[in-house]
Amino acid sequence: MLIPLVDLKAQYISIKGEIDAAVAAVLTETAFVGGKFARKFEEEFAKALGVKYCIGVGNGTDALEIALRALGVAEGDEVIVPANTFIATAEAVTTVGGSVVFVDAREDDFCLDPALVRKAITPRTKAIIPVHLYGQPADMKEILTIAREHDLLVLEDAAQAHLAQYDGTTIGGVGEAACFSFYPGKNLGAYGDAGAIVTNDEALATKARMIANHGRIDKYDHKIEGRNSRLDGLQGAVLSVKLKHLPEWTKRRRAVAKRYTEALEGVGDLVLPKEFADRTAVYHLYVVRTKRREELQKFLKEKGIEAGIHYPIGLPFLEAYHHLEKSTAADFPTTHMLQGEILSLPIYAELSDEQISLITNTIKDFYVSR
Ligand SMILES: *Cc1c(COP(=O)(O)O)cnc(C)c1O
Repeated sequence: MLIPLVDLKAQYISIKGEIDAAVAAVLTETAFVGGKFARKFEEEFAKALGVKYCIGVGNGTDALEIALRALGVAEGDEVIVPANTFIATAEAVTTVGGSVVFVDAREDDFCLDPALVRKAITPRTKAIIPVHLYGQPADMKEILTIAREHDLLVLEDAAQAHLAQYDGTTIGGVGEAACFSFYPGKNLGAYGDAGAIVTNDEALATKARMIANHGRIDKYDHKIEGRNSRLDGLQGAVLSVKLKHLPEWTKRRRAVAKRYTEALEGVGDLVLPKEFADRTAVYHLYVVRTKRREELQKFLKEKGIEAGIHYPIGLPFLEAYHHLEKSTAADFPTTHMLQGEILSLPIYAELSDEQISLITNTIKDFYVSR
């Protein structure tokens, strides 16, 4: 591949000195699980988001599961989850004993459609998990209004939305709590699995930390049965190094997106991602739509450009959810339409202007030649 969908090597090379020194420091101090490097990152990440508490955990899926449990979601509770997201959002609900209720996406932002959220509420509804998909914040004003009207909890899945903003507030401080993933390919990626829960609610933070660390508050003082999901020192140290670069990387991602949009506006049948005045998207992915998706993806591949599909099968249509009452295309028309048309173009801070031009010119060639 001439241009891969993500290029973690290019990023590592750009910060190799800092990363290697940070890793060496963890080895020297043998602070492997939790410890000073994990704590330092938690403090820095909370500060970067403008929230009071950050609890580092094993991965983003655990973050969602632990946050749901800390919020008291349990058997008998329904939780509203977007039909158009990665499976982890729904898995976390099932793992704590809750029932997943899928709601379709809005075509213009790919995220939860608030009007449909309203219709999906029943007496058993306990929480809503908006996902800021591809780094585009969901319509939080509407979602929070609905939640307040019906006394529902809002847990944000911000796994793809590090430093994204809604109405001037950085995601993490918008709802009651937010969960992040630091999977290597995410905008802020560790060198292994890692995740975090952030909140301004002290009691929730204490409970989440307890659950993530065997239900204890002190070494052998276990208040409840918890589990083991902790941020490790190596990941904490790597994340601290990378967090310093995240604002500049995010700026570059937005600049890459702008270049794509300027070059591809009006080309063929492409539908480009929309910018909203009250939201600052961080472009975890740059997702276009076309009715000729398969052809275009193949054409790009032949020219050495990798494009992806996130996600090729909407959650309700997966075998894992066939048992649910609503799982057909007619139940989730927008998610069904999207899964047949979406294509993710390469996007990362290290992508050069020349590479972007090569990609956009190749796409233009496709529409001229075919
Ligand atoms: C990556 C991701 C997760 C899960 O994070 P992991 O760290 O891989 O467990 C959850 N939700 C969304 C939307 C994601 O993209």
